[in-house]
Order: sequence, then structure tokens, then C-alpha cells
Amino acid sequence: MEVSSLKKLEQLEFSLDSVTDLSSASVSSSSPAVATVSCVEGVTELRFLQSDSAHCFNFDLASSQLFKLGPLHFICVIDSSGSSEEKSFSQGVNIKFRDEKDSKDFCDSFEEWKKNAVVQGSSLQNGTVSANKSKFDDKIEASSAKMYFHYYGQLLHQQNMLQDYVRTGTYYAAVMENRSDFAGRVVVDVGAGSGILSMFAAQAGAKHVYAVEASEMAEYARKLIAGNPLFADRITIIKGKVEDIELPEKADVLISEPMGTLLVNERMLESYVIARDRFMSPNGKMFPTVGRIHMAPFSDEFLFIEMANKAMFWQQQNYYGVDLTPLYGSAHQGYFSQPVVDAFDPRLLVAPPMFHTIDFTQMKEEDFYEIDIPLKFTASMCTRLHGLACWFDVLFDGSTVQRWLTTAPGAPTTHWYQIRCVLSQPIYVMAGQEITGRLHLVAHSAQSYSIDLTLSAKMWGPGASQGGILQSSTCKFDLKEPYYRMSQPQAYPVSQEPPLQPQQQLNTQDIQTQNDELEEALLQEPPQNASTQL
Ligand code: SAH
Repeated sequence: MEVSSLKKLEQLEFSLDSVTDLSSASVSSSSPAVATVSCVEGVTELRFLQSDSAHCFNFDLASSQLFKLGPLHFICVIDSSGSSEEKSFSQGVNIKFRDEKDSKDFCDSFEEWKKNAVVQGSSLQNGTVSANKSKFDDKIEASSAKMYFHYYGQLLHQQNMLQDYVRTGTYYAAVMENRSDFAGRVVVDVGAGSGILSMFAAQAGAKHVYAVEASEMAEYARKLIAGNPLFADRITIIKGKVEDIELPEKADVLISEPMGTLLVNERMLESYVIARDRFMSPNGKMFPTVGRIHMAPFSDEFLFIEMANKAMFWQQQNYYGVDLTPLYGSAHQGYFSQPVVDAFDPRLLVAPPMFHTIDFTQMKEEDFYEIDIPLKFTASMCTRLHGLACWFDVLFDGSTVQRWLTTAPGAPTTHWYQIRCVLSQPIYVMAGQEITGRLHLVAHSAQSYSIDLTLSAKMWGPGASQGGILQSSTCKFDLKEPYYRMSQPQAYPVSQEPPLQPQQQLNTQDIQTQNDELEEALLQEPPQNASTQL
């Protein structure tokens, strides 16, 4: 190890694929070049020499900074901030390497040269190359990250998101209705994918958009943007993780689509707030700004029986002469640990929903590691309760228009659908009864969450005043292993009623049920539940 780092230090010349002046708009004039380092009278000088034009860029190494924009792509700038807090980069070059080995060698050497330059009395404190161990790699299993970015590197999955017109159309509207937030501003697109949101920002007049994408999709985004010359010169694609890359300037606006099932799945919201802390200027705007997880208990006899039936396979005592029953319990538990993803009829909800707010502008990265939500509902019907239904919405808090993107049941369906945690032991509730519980989410290194759900219903009638809990049901789920129920025929008729609006959902939880209303409710016809609708 010692020997190789010494060698790097000694290597004072590197060949580059190209070097271009940052201030020149065109990249076409790039040409092969060499980077050299020399030490003259205590000043270490980094020099980029274009081989064809003999054009030369000189940098005092002690006051230079290297920003990584991609595996082969860097920006080198002179930090002329002096002692002031405000940075100003007076000169810079775009440099590209031929391969990753050259790029890594240069990076390592730059760091070593810099250390030397600083030791020799320079005043520069900063300028570390972004070769630190990544925050992302620290907490996410390499195998999970590999599969994750492989998935997003494929056009078909980006197409799936683009074809979610509720999603993409709401983003477009939120950007275009709030042009004043984008016009003339520097924007960072966090997890740019195909680059679609960057192009929306550019259409809204952004001065420059840095589109950061870690997967191979970055190359496709490059191609797509190159084919849209109206925006091409205002968008820079940066291939890398937002946790790792550096940007040459602070952003006025962050735009991103980091939401997963139950809002938090994929753990990309953590990258979103890391990007906020790393790249956003203090009064910057975030699109989206806040997210809310909505929850309500539901009753769905059909779904419950469908799941219980799956495990029945293991009840066979003579499967080719083998008794399968020893595994019945585990299979049953396995099926009931899968959150169900599908679009359900909102009439299956048995209480007005409640919500938990996540403010992207305030939330710390660590706040996402464990999310604890106390639950409290009032049953609006007498039924058998099968679990907790969840969905989310996000707000684009634009200066001109506040727009919500909702994934609520009854609203136009999105590719997120809704999610339901089904309890293996249903509980019985009466209209007006209080349902309490807890939804506890713990992040894991496979970019998802373990979910603990408990729902309890207090005793009704004599004894209730003592607050005795009659029934309580608990289940564990892994958000990483959902049961996609979309291939099943849709069991529910299309609702004739207008869909619930987020605002309505908000208000309904405030309803206080009075005792006499309960009596009345008890005398009413049994409400329609899932089984009666089928
Ligand atoms: N913005 C696009 C894509 C959204 S999907 C659109 O709205 O259509 C999320 C994208 O973020 C994926 O392409 C994924 O590869 C990327 N991504 C996830 N985590 C990232 C991270 N830490 N750094 C950079 N990109 C990331």
C-alpha cells in the first residue's frame, strides 16, 4: 500500500480525454490534454495543457478544488473565497478521463498533492476530493443497491413511471404552475431517471439543472436530453449517487420523485434530504415539500379468505405421500407478512382516516430510520376488521399554486396503488367504538422497512368505562416483500360516489361520535362490506 501511494505521488503527468474551459458554453471544442504538476518556489501548480491548441490552464493547487460529476467527469475550480464564508470560483475547467483507472489515479494524486501543498503553508482548509466512503454504502447492502440501480437502469421501468399520467402530469402541472420558482434558478433533480423532471424544470425557465442519477439510466437521460436541443445546454447529467457527487454551485430548487410504496419504501427520501443538506441553499424550495402517510382500518372478507387459502396448500397430509402440515403455520405467517398492494374501493374503510406528516424540508436523515405512528380511529360501522389500509400524498408547495399528488383509494389510480397490512387475526368492532394501535416502521439495509402493526378495540357495553381491552391483534410485515394483487380480477364495482379529496379525508377524522349517534347506528341496517359487494 505504501509503495503504490508513493508511486501515485511521483506520477506528475496524466493524460486526459479532454479539457474545456468551464466558462465556454460549447463542449465541442474539447481536445486531448495532459495534466501536470510542478512545484516552483513553494507553490504547487496544476496545469492542464490541450495537446492540439497548446492552450494551457494554470491552477494554484492549494486553492483548487476537484468536483466529481461522474466516474470519468470532473470539474476543477479555483476557490478564490479567501477567508469569507461565500465561495466564489473564479476559474474552472471541465475534465474528462479515458477510463476509470486514470480518473481514480488522478483523484488520489490530487488529494496527496493537495495535502502536500497545504502542509507547505497554504491557507486552504477545504478542497477534499469526494472520494469519502459513501453514506449510502454505509447503510445499504451492496447486493440490494446493485439490484435497485439495475432495475432503474432499464427503460421499461422508467416508462412505467412516465406512463403513470397522474404522477407525471401532476409533476408537470406543479412545475409549470409555479414557473416563478424555477425561472432563472439553479435546480437539482435528485434521482433524475430519464431526466423528465429536469426537462420540466428547464421548460419552466431554469437557468441550469443538475440531473443526478446513479443508475445506467444516466446514459439514456444524456441521449434524451441531447435530442431536445431547447434544453440541452441548460441540463448537466451527473452520473452518481447524490450522497457521493459534488456540484459546483448551490441549488435554489430541488426536484425529485423519491416516493415508494407507503411513501418511505426504497429509502430514497433519505437521499432526498441528504441532497437538501448538501446542495440546497438555505432558502431553497423542495418539490415536493411534504408528504403524508394516510391510514384507516378496513374490512375485506374476500381478501382475508384469499390469503388464508394460499396457506391451505400446506394442510395436505398426503402430498405424494408426504405430510405437509408441519409447515402450515410458517406458510400462513409468511403470507400474512406480505403487505398487499392493489387498488381497493374506499367503501372498505371502516373508520375515517388519520395521517402522519413528513416534512421534507425539516426531517433529518436519521429520522427516517424509525418511524412510530400511534393510531386512533372511531369505527363508523359494525364489522369484522381485517387490518390497516395505507396510502400517501405529497404537496408541491409552490409560490403560486399548492398542488397535491394523491394516491388515495377512490382517486385516479397511480402505479403506487394502495397498501394494506392484513392481520392474521381479525377483530370485531361496533359502530362508534374506538380502535387504537401502533404502526412502527424500522428501516433495514435492503432499502425497505420492517413493519409492526397492532390494532386493538376496546370493549363495548358494560365494563367499557373501565377501559378494558377486549381484543388486540399484532402482525409483522416486510415492506420489501409485497403481494402485488393487481393481476387478480378486480372484485370491486366502480364507485359511483365522488372520490374522497385529501381535504375531505383530513376533516373526517375530526368527527366526534356521540353516544346517541351510536345507538342510532346500531339500529341501522348493517353497512355494506366487501363480501356484500361481491
Ligand atoms: N425522476 C425520474 C425518476 C424517478 S425514480 C422520474 O420522475 O421519472 C427514482 C430514480 O432515482 C431512479 O432512477 C433511481 O436510480 C434514482 N436514485 C435513487 N437513489 C439515488 C441516489 N441515492 N442517487 C442518485 N440517484 C438515485
